[in-house]
Amino acid sequence: MNTLKQNFNHILTQINQAEITCQRETGSVQLLAVSKNKPASDIAQAYQFGQRHFGENYLQEALSKQQQLAAFNISWHFIGPIQSNKTRPIATHFDWVHSVDRLKIAQRLSEQRPAHLPPLNICLQVNISDEDTKSGAMLTQLPELIAQVMQLPNLRLRGVMAIPAPQTDYELQRQPYRKIHKTVMALNLPELDTFSFGMTGDLEAAIAEGATIVRIGTALFGSR
Ligand SMILES: *Cc1c(COP(=O)(O)O)cnc(C)c1O
Repeated sequence: MNTLKQNFNHILTQINQAEITCQRETGSVQLLAVSKNKPASDIAQAYQFGQRHFGENYLQEALSKQQQLAAFNISWHFIGPIQSNKTRPIATHFDWVHSVDRLKIAQRLSEQRPAHLPPLNICLQVNISDEDTKSGAMLTQLPELIAQVMQLPNLRLRGVMAIPAPQTDYELQRQPYRKIHKTVMALNLPELDTFSFGMTGDLEAAIAEGATIVRIGTALFGSR
């Protein structure tokens, strides 16, 4: 078995174990394979193992890989910072966007989503570290932003995404996710079914706090 296949099996087992430990339904956590800085051939290989959802951070790099892999039935997720002059290609070439952090970006994505495509799946990125330098909406602004984005016709608001400050302690890893999960659940909006929480270093903590998508790069494709 090659290394990539072993890595995938390992992560899928880890996700499954965490679901069991946390008494989550089996299959309730989806693996998003983060392929930034990795060649299209890695994606093609992972596709052969059954992986369909891939996350990319950089627009030009992603568009180039999408062209190379046009024959594949891949669901493309944009997870990187979004400049407002890049919204049109993002609205055109992706199925999901996890990194929407302000109304202006959401409005542009909705306006620019091509009419022949289904609504664009959106997660709002939350800045839980309360650092001005980090992207993401503040938790206090989140309910209003959710209400506004839900009005936009060509978007389907699915939930939230977060990238907390790195921690090695399991309990500390859980805290920010718990806070966000609690805030969103309190809104009682069943259409918000997605928590894009967790990366290579903290996927178990994320699953314990309600992650439905974990975004894994390093543990699958190696260091960048
Ligand atoms: C790079 C990246 C990941 C993957 O991180 P790993 O630690 O390599 O698993 C996940 N989410 C976002 C937003 C990223 O930029």
